[in-house]
Amino acid sequence: MAEGLLIVGEDVCADVVSSKDAFDAVEAVFGAMARGDAYNFPVIREAIGYADALYGFKSGFDRAGKTLGVKSGGYWPGNMDKGLTNHQSTIFLFDPDTGMLQALVGGNYLTAVRTAASSSVSIAHLARPDAKVLGMVGAGHQSTFQLRAAAEQRNFEKVVAWNPHPEMLPRLAEVAEGLGLDFDAVSPEELGAEADVIITITSAFEPLLMKDWIKPGTHIACMGTDTKGKQELDPALLAAATVFTDEIAQSVSIGEAQHAIAAGLIAEADITPIGAVINGTHPGRRDAQEITLFDGTGVGLQDLAVASVAAQKAEQAGKATRAAL
Ligand code: NAD
Repeated sequence: MAEGLLIVGEDVCADVVSSKDAFDAVEAVFGAMARGDAYNFPVIREAIGYADALYGFKSGFDRAGKTLGVKSGGYWPGNMDKGLTNHQSTIFLFDPDTGMLQALVGGNYLTAVRTAASSSVSIAHLARPDAKVLGMVGAGHQSTFQLRAAAEQRNFEKVVAWNPHPEMLPRLAEVAEGLGLDFDAVSPEELGAEADVIITITSAFEPLLMKDWIKPGTHIACMGTDTKGKQELDPALLAAATVFTDEIAQSVSIGEAQHAIAAGLIAEADITPIGAVINGTHPGRRDAQEITLFDGTGVGLQDLAVASVAAQKAEQAGKATRAAL
């Protein structure tokens, strides 16, 4: 990148970073993490005692992609009433050779596409090639991004969906229909019986899907659990599945695996980084009957990877603002 600080706003990010760009960036950084070329620094997340906000930092360094930086932001529950998104974030990229600030990139759109890219990478590498029915659990802000990205990975014919708040489902139905997919609102038991691939993306604190509802051969991308105490799945389901994750340290502490680990149903050694599958050092799915499960906890390196793409593409397209500090 040339001299000076690049500023890349939310609208420009949405303009220049496609779902395919995010997929490629996230797949590459998961591979780099599993090779030991990229690592995440400890996450800071604090209740600041003001505006009920949670604020923190996710940061890391990718030596292979030469990406160093931090995503700063959090959750402001009162924002909705002000017409703003509750989740707010900004990504800062630094030159790894000099430590100088290179780019300031809006992080809200990028958080959604990098999270969707994560489950999408897991579907590409772990779902059965003949998967036809996509099950969606969750119908909030992230869910439409998840649905769109998943639809790019397999020849799905139908979406079955369930949400604890059913009034939120029509928005998801609209996206499915826009993609030419049939859409059925179903019970969670029916969802488990029909779906070949399931994405969970809720803010749940208790299991929404039970092991006995899931059919053999299903791939589950569990994306909502990113904090201690959150939970979307029956821990017995993790014991029955082959478990993959973006980062093992987060999976066992703040991811879905925290509960199965605490109950002694699985051990840390039972969890495989998805980067190992990407790099070809783990075979991934072994047969058509195996249940594969991806515990997508969300790591800072994903944010930095997509922000780096945003900065490069915005600069090439002449859409970034340049400033001197
Ligand atoms: P949102 O607020 O727009 O939607 C919340 C969803 O969870 C809705 O489907 C809602 O019906 C459901 N829900 C709310 N309270 C619930 C409860 N008590 N029990 C069960 N379901 C409940 O949120 P969003 O932006 O779509 O994010 C969804 C989840 O994904 C959040 O938990 C968020 O923290 C998480 N997330 C994870 C990553 C990651 O990288 N893994 C990234 C971004 C967001």
